[in-house]
Amino acid sequence: MAFSTNTPVQTNPVTEHFVIVGGGQAAAQAVQTLRQHRFGGRITLVGDEPYPPYQRPPLSKSYLAGALQRERLFLRPRAFYEDSGVELELGIRAMRLDPGASQVTLEDDRVLRYDGLMLATGSRVRRLRIPGADLPGVHYVRTVADVDSILADLQTSRQLVIVGGGYIGLEVAAVSASCGLEVTLLEAVDRVMARVVSPEVSRFFGDRHTRAGVRIRCATTVSRFVGGQRVAAVETADGQRYPCDAVIVGIGIVPAVGLAEAAGLACDNGILVDEYARTEHHGVLAAGDCTNHPSRLAGERIRLESVQNAIAQGRTAALTFLGQPQPYAATPWFWSDQYELKLQIAGLSQGHEQVVVRGAPDEAPFAVFYLRAGRLIAVEAVNSPKAFMLGKKLISAGTMVEAEQLADVGFELSALLNA
Ligand code: NAP
Repeated sequence: MAFSTNTPVQTNPVTEHFVIVGGGQAAAQAVQTLRQHRFGGRITLVGDEPYPPYQRPPLSKSYLAGALQRERLFLRPRAFYEDSGVELELGIRAMRLDPGASQVTLEDDRVLRYDGLMLATGSRVRRLRIPGADLPGVHYVRTVADVDSILADLQTSRQLVIVGGGYIGLEVAAVSASCGLEVTLLEAVDRVMARVVSPEVSRFFGDRHTRAGVRIRCATTVSRFVGGQRVAAVETADGQRYPCDAVIVGIGIVPAVGLAEAAGLACDNGILVDEYARTEHHGVLAAGDCTNHPSRLAGERIRLESVQNAIAQGRTAALTFLGQPQPYAATPWFWSDQYELKLQIAGLSQGHEQVVVRGAPDEAPFAVFYLRAGRLIAVEAVNSPKAFMLGKKLISAGTMVEAEQLADVGFELSALLNA
């Protein structure tokens, strides 16, 4: 696939109009970067939720626990957008993109002409297509509205079934068990967080949940939800039945590429962009969960689901539009909070040749390092911010490392940075 090699024009006259479709973290970052770099033209942000861009990570953590007020979720207060001259089109969907005519048509048939467009449409939850999937009491976690309806339901619930043992499932389990709910978690594969962490980290977090009273069932396929007015039980393929008052499903997300695909943009597990966040259509950029980009670290195209990626690509897209292109080469990182545990991950472990554990993996803090060709490519740190920070720097620098030194808790990792 050929991307345009034309770099955007160097100057951005005040008559220019930059349109952002999607109102998440990438959108907020692009606005900030454009204004910081003195873009004086119009900016319009179109979002289908009724809120300005907000942080999603607290939704399955402090917001669900009732420890964070809604206003605190917002990345910027509404006044920021007013003060920055950003037109917010919220609670409305962009229905059609015509890259040839450089225009986007909204749900109410209004047409926005643009000089630069950034698609930051994010992702949608993957839905379970099984009998009973539409029963009231079956929830997903993606938006403020999702969590508000969960909170209303959990007030009268005693037994909760969670489907999926990824970040969402485990974070929700931690909050719910801590609030005294009886929690059962059903995971399709043989360990929790299998896609994102090592067996050591899976086992450690699984054990912590079990100690908190969460009943974890791995290698278990959900076959149907049962109930009359609302969900009352979950049945699995092995014939088990788990009574419940509510269900929360967290089985992954899919990139929201409908608008891009219908407009003829190339998509393959996300909207294809280059390292400058450019799609193949001049003037159309894309950023965040919805994109698939060439990764120097992975040596191939990848799609990342992370706040870090949304921020870095949102900034990249804005700079490209401003005619100050900088290739996106940030080291990916992720985190999860469960009980008193903080899991921090940097880099990408695929293609690793060696795994090194630092510390005892049955007691935090400890860290797991992944090596390829003598270099560190990823680290998973449990309650060890130091191992995470140093690991991230070593990954970014491409430093050669010795497995024995990484494994030796008496060895100062910072010495590797100076080596
Ligand atoms: P996820 O991390 O992809 O985990 C989903 C889990 O559910 C996977 O282990 C998956 O197994 C399993 N699963 C799939 N189908 C299933 C089924 N039918 N029955 C039981 N289990 C099934 O996705 P998520 O937890 O839903 O999170 C959604 C998004 O939010 C992700 O992008 C995640 O990164 C983000 N998020 C991030 C954080 C954080 O960084 N702390 C916190 C919350 C959410 P397979 O691998 O076999 O499909």
